[in-house]
Amino acid sequence: MTSNRRVVVIGGGLAGLRCAARLATGGAAAVTVLGEEPHAPYNRVLLAEILAGRYDPEVTALPDPGPALRRGVRAVRVDRADRTVRCDDGTVLGYDTLVLATGSNPVLPPLRGLFEPDGRELPEGVHAFRTMDDCLALSAAVRPGVRAVVIGGGLLGVSAARALAARGAQVVLAQQAERLMERQLDADASALLHTHLTALGVEIHTECRVRGLTKAAPAQGGGTLVTGVELADGYRLDADLVVLACGVRPRIGLAQAAGLDVRKGVVVDDRLRTSDPRIHAIGDCAEHDGRVYGLAGAALEQADAVAAFLTGTGDPAGTSPYTGTRALTRLTLTSGDDGPLDLAAFGQATPLPGDDVIRLADATRRTYRKVVVRGDRLVGGVLLGELSTVAALARSWEDGEALTDFSHLLTDDGGS
Ligand SMILES: Cc1cc2nc3c(=O)[nH]c(=O)nc-3n(C[C@H](O)[C@H](O)[C@H](O)COP(=O)(O)OP(=O)(O)OC[C@H]3O[C@@H](n4cnc5c(N)ncnc54)[C@H](O)[C@@H]3O)c2cc1C
Repeated sequence: MTSNRRVVVIGGGLAGLRCAARLATGGAAAVTVLGEEPHAPYNRVLLAEILAGRYDPEVTALPDPGPALRRGVRAVRVDRADRTVRCDDGTVLGYDTLVLATGSNPVLPPLRGLFEPDGRELPEGVHAFRTMDDCLALSAAVRPGVRAVVIGGGLLGVSAARALAARGAQVVLAQQAERLMERQLDADASALLHTHLTALGVEIHTECRVRGLTKAAPAQGGGTLVTGVELADGYRLDADLVVLACGVRPRIGLAQAAGLDVRKGVVVDDRLRTSDPRIHAIGDCAEHDGRVYGLAGAALEQADAVAAFLTGTGDPAGTSPYTGTRALTRLTLTSGDDGPLDLAAFGQATPLPGDDVIRLADATRRTYRKVVVRGDRLVGGVLLGELSTVAALARSWEDGEALTDFSHLLTDDGGS
């Protein structure tokens, strides 16, 4: 890459900042990151710890690229013919290479009463859980005894419910699926997680669809105030706070308006190029080989790969294609007296016919370990409460190495 090449990165989150840092160390001269959020760069993965009161926001800081990051500036249009990006502050930046790292937006479920007719503001007391602003607003609203309903029992909903319970809220978690974190966990692991959250005081309703909100006019006037939720069976729950944790959707608006190929996410090839070879996409907004990851590990790996391609650095000199990420999901659910519950899941935790399954469960110690083996390869696993083998298992899974002896997979040293 020539040293005067102008690289513009849209999005100052995990992927965008990592890419900018790698480009800077790889010799790219002029990198500008546009980040619409006004805050110092932070790690979104740790928001639940801030909400739980365990960390101050500063603890979640990501390395700040200094003046290269234009904080509080949103890119509003990409003009591919001129190779320019127009920003909401009126500035226009030229680029030779553009990297889209716009992340994702929370999914807002189709709840009756979520918006006023023609309105776009959430009612007072209703919060998404995606940004530092969401987290600080929720944090300011929660106090002991407050009644909170969390809608969604995936990774986000479980994290939010645990954090609110740690702050003394009375939490009800409404999960439409038949169990918690159904995408990552099998039924047994889910049941253990259920028990753990219940012990923290979270009331969990599975196969429970929230269909609407009940609201009132706030005492101080203006807008509407949430007072509860209405379930599909007609039952009503009172609530002072409602958290929408119904998943995320890649932020593809800019790419779509610029005429790039977009499906679930912005479609990229094995060099993370979009349908315009001068524009790359990484992180939650990108779709590679039909897959949108929505996970931190993939965002970082894609950022590293793009930086290596653009600077010709890395091993071997930025020439290896990006072939996808084997992303491990990890979560630590810390609580008061009950001790933390560590959780890790990877690959396909639900076996297909013919797969071998090795499982160790200890109800007293609240540990559960399971791996799924297909032929001589490890294809997935779930670990709860006891993660000493996770590094060795993840290595074996990532490398796709042939296994000769399965018996060591779940023992404490993972056979390493
Ligand atoms: C509460 C929470 C917990 C999570 N926990 C885990 C976990 O345990 N493990 C895990 O692997 N993943 C977790 N994730 C997901 C992980 O945070 C994301 O996969 C990761 O942040 C993706 O990085 P990204 O840079 O692609 O997107 P983001 O981090 O979302 O960053 C995108 C940035 O781009 C900005 N942006 C968007 N459009 C524009 C524009 N037009 N102009 C300027 N800026 C723009 C956005 O404001 C945002 O700051 C969690 C997410 C949340 C919200």
